[in-house]
Amino acid sequence: MTALKSIERPTMECETKHFLMAQRQLDEIALEMGLDPELHERLRYPKRSMIVTIPVRMDDGSVRSFTGYRVQHDVTLGPAKGGVRYHPEVNLGEVSSLAMLMTWKCALMGLPYGGAKGGIRCEPWKMSMGEQERLTRRYTSEIINLLGPDKDIPAPDMYTNEQTMAWIMDTYSINVGHTVPSVVTGKPVSIGGSFGRTEATGRGVAYCVKRAITQTGLDSTAPTVVVQGFGNVGAVTAKLLNESGYKIIAVSDVHGGIYNQKGLDIPRLQAYLSEMGKVSGFPHSEDISNSELLQLKCDVLVPAALANQIHDDNVQKLDCKILVEGANGPTSPEADKYLHENGVFVVPDILANAGGVTVSYFEWVQGLMHLFWTEDEVNNKLEQIMGRACDQVFEMSIKSGLRPRMAALRIGIGRLAEAKRLRGLYP
Ligand code: GLU
Repeated sequence: MTALKSIERPTMECETKHFLMAQRQLDEIALEMGLDPELHERLRYPKRSMIVTIPVRMDDGSVRSFTGYRVQHDVTLGPAKGGVRYHPEVNLGEVSSLAMLMTWKCALMGLPYGGAKGGIRCEPWKMSMGEQERLTRRYTSEIINLLGPDKDIPAPDMYTNEQTMAWIMDTYSINVGHTVPSVVTGKPVSIGGSFGRTEATGRGVAYCVKRAITQTGLDSTAPTVVVQGFGNVGAVTAKLLNESGYKIIAVSDVHGGIYNQKGLDIPRLQAYLSEMGKVSGFPHSEDISNSELLQLKCDVLVPAALANQIHDDNVQKLDCKILVEGANGPTSPEADKYLHENGVFVVPDILANAGGVTVSYFEWVQGLMHLFWTEDEVNNKLEQIMGRACDQVFEMSIKSGLRPRMAALRIGIGRLAEAKRLRGLYP
């Protein structure tokens, strides 16, 4: 056999690692809230999972096979909803645990959706636009029976964007014979997307930072903020907080971080990034590593990059008062407990980064109504929903003594449990 050009299928160990962590989190809260054991058992596994092999003609004429996934964890409250990510480490376990997280997130935010996630094992940064388009279209056609505005609605996630959604929407529409904008969210405004969707996740994170500061009574006129990740989520969070008078003292991207105790000039940094393709080397700042960045003394730390960034090995070195999770799953369960016990106020991912799926919901609703809102209308509605969810989580956390993550899970899972009870079991 000739040398394999494709990314190999993941090992069993890496498949199960993520998924077991998500199950453990469910088990902990299920016990705490006295969830019916039979229902608990049903929620521990996805409703449907699909693995597909995606052959793609590369620019050099060769054909490479990629592995793609779409997992629907639960569809009790409505169509399955969740992003599609392109990354070489994507695997069934990771996608399944993220689908479960989407179920809890949508239920917590009061959105009429179940949870899903999808992904392809690939290195998008090494692929041309043409290769990415062919990969996306073939993936869509392989999973097309799962999709539909009433069935399962993909959205952007890591290394996918508006263009990816436009290709999915087009492929689906061609196959069913008419244009169906509401089969995806996070698409460009010119083909039925919503104003405010691109910035929505970062806007929601920035809102949670402000709420956490009020909640903890932090006394500072210009709180210091460290942001890990300067992509769509981190950069928008930094920009909005900076505009509100916060001091962004450090940010990072995949290449490394930068630091200035007096605060970084965020508009200039954005211009620098577009020109240089990375944040390091930015004038009037010091280059630092990603691990140094996490240990900086600050009021607020926002991990907005990859999962599993804060764990047993580094949690004791953190020096923040508030941690707001822009990424999905950046903190391990053990680290989360440690932070809570040591007085750090953690706003969990299913609340902090829910702005994205909330505006996805607005986009879907606008598409189905064929009636579109202004950016102000979208942002006001987002703030209302984020505000309500923050109130509920913070109140539940105080009332029950649960740490905010557990309080958020309890609210989301409680709503789902009630819906499942009322719908009953068929047959
Ligand atoms: N991928 C985003 C998330 O993790 C957005 C999902 C969506 O809009 O459906 O929440």
